[in-house]
Amino acid sequence: MIKIAIDGPGGAGKSTIAKAVAKKLGIVYVDTGALYRTVGYFVKGKGIDPHDRVAVPACLGEISIEVKYENGTQNVYLNGENPGDKIRTPEMSMYASAVSAIPEVRAFLLDTQRDIAKKNSVIMDGRDIGTVILPDAEVKIFMTASAECRAERRYKELLAKGVKANYDDVLREMNERDHNDSTRDVAPTAAAADAVLLDNSNLNFDESVDAVIAIVNEKTRVQK
Ligand code: C5P
Repeated sequence: MIKIAIDGPGGAGKSTIAKAVAKKLGIVYVDTGALYRTVGYFVKGKGIDPHDRVAVPACLGEISIEVKYENGTQNVYLNGENPGDKIRTPEMSMYASAVSAIPEVRAFLLDTQRDIAKKNSVIMDGRDIGTVILPDAEVKIFMTASAECRAERRYKELLAKGVKANYDDVLREMNERDHNDSTRDVAPTAAAADAVLLDNSNLNFDESVDAVIAIVNEKTRVQK
């Protein structure tokens, strides 16, 4: 069993790169952002302000979250239903960022994440995987790229999905989300002391995948 933690800001390519690495290594890819997005989606449906530190924790008792792997894809079920791409809009990114700053939300999702890693070899991406969720991960990578690079990738990703987007809005929202995520009091986006820093501003997708595999090989060779 192996645990690989990939943390870093939005748009660094963590999810697509980690997905490809998982396929190559034959292990499970866990997208933890989807869990926060799902909570945000529920909160929005309830008409609750996602920053409300009383109303958000109070509604968690109404949420049941289940992560299933179906045809090699992670699906997050919210009270028995899969919201699919509805959690992927820019609005849901902001909702996820807001609810994820609330300690009760992080505590609520902690065991779900750890349980998956107990049962499977995983590559898990998020913001606090190497620092909080899997501090004993054998491999920790902090993946980043310049804000402009990340905004450009996220913008193209949205267009490819048919979501209407404007580059300047994407960049502004990305900077706002980076700021919220890295300055919050609980589990801010941070590299673990033993994480390898991977800046992929100048790497294409295949090169980024190879760079991760090289780090995994190096780390696991050292530990053997
Ligand atoms: O990675 P993704 O963009 O899907 O994450 C959405 C939001 O969820 C992030 O902006 C961050 O605020 C939050 N998040 C988090 N911890 C994680 C994963 C995501 O706080 N492990």
